[in-house]
Amino acid sequence: MCIDEFNGDNFDHGPYGFVGGGYLGHVQTNGRPIETTPVPRGTPSWGAQWKKATADYYLSSIKSASVHGGFYSYRDVYLDLDPTYTDRFGRPLMRMTIDFHENELKAAEFMTDKYAEIVRAMGASIVDKKPRKGPYDITTYQTTHVNGGAIMGSDPKTSALNRYLQSWDVPNLFVLGASAFPQNAGYNPTATVAALAFWAAAAIRNQYLKNPGPLVHA
Ligand SMILES: Cc1cc2nc3c(=O)[nH]c(=O)nc-3n(C[C@H](O)[C@H](O)[C@H](O)COP(=O)(O)OP(=O)(O)OC[C@H]3O[C@@H](n4cnc5c(N)ncnc54)[C@H](O)[C@@H]3O)c2cc1C
Repeated sequence: MCIDEFNGDNFDHGPYGFVGGGYLGHVQTNGRPIETTPVPRGTPSWGAQWKKATADYYLSSIKSASVHGGFYSYRDVYLDLDPTYTDRFGRPLMRMTIDFHENELKAAEFMTDKYAEIVRAMGASIVDKKPRKGPYDITTYQTTHVNGGAIMGSDPKTSALNRYLQSWDVPNLFVLGASAFPQNAGYNPTATVAALAFWAAAAIRNQYLKNPGPLVHA
């Protein structure tokens, strides 16, 4: 179940001090033995008290209530070639430089509060809120929606691809995928990846093949 009222521009951001947003979602993935046995904070992580709390809360708790927010582009969030680490062929690995900005943290706080309100209204006796906090930490799960790297745009100085996912520099190179996203929206990426693939394929077929060369002159 997802609530989309707090995504993108779906609500008035006036007093909140951030732009964008995301969805509130409850994703229940069956009765997995570890992730679906939440117990109140402070319960020992093993032993008789843990067993009792697990039994008491098993059918009356929701663990995977989560908010999923967007992440805007920033000059200090980028990918480059690692100066130290290489792959087995000696080629530099990709290095990711990233941290949350105030906008992402404020949005996470806002959406988490909204979700907590809903869960309280459902009758929860205990609500344990964990809004996203900085600094960014790759060791705890963040998302599998990793976008960007060869972004599309209207200006070759600030993007790698034009609006048809065609390289500005090499006209017979088209780069399809979530790598083209300049921003990471609050929505899941795959439908947009598919739409852009269709859009690029149509441009290749209807324009490029008839007249190979740059499809956009900047
Ligand atoms: C666990 C998980 C769950 C997800 N759940 C969702 C979801 O519920 N909804 C949603 O919208 N999105 C979801 N995503 C995100 C979504 O899968 C990705 O955003 C999407 O697949 C990106 O598509 P892509 O074509 O850009 O990249 P990919 O699908 O990663 O495709 C890249 C391809 O390039 C190939 N490749 C890499 N290097 C080379 C090379 N040197 N030569 C040749 N080929 C190469 C790879 O083998 C791969 O096939 C999920 C991702 C993960 C990992």
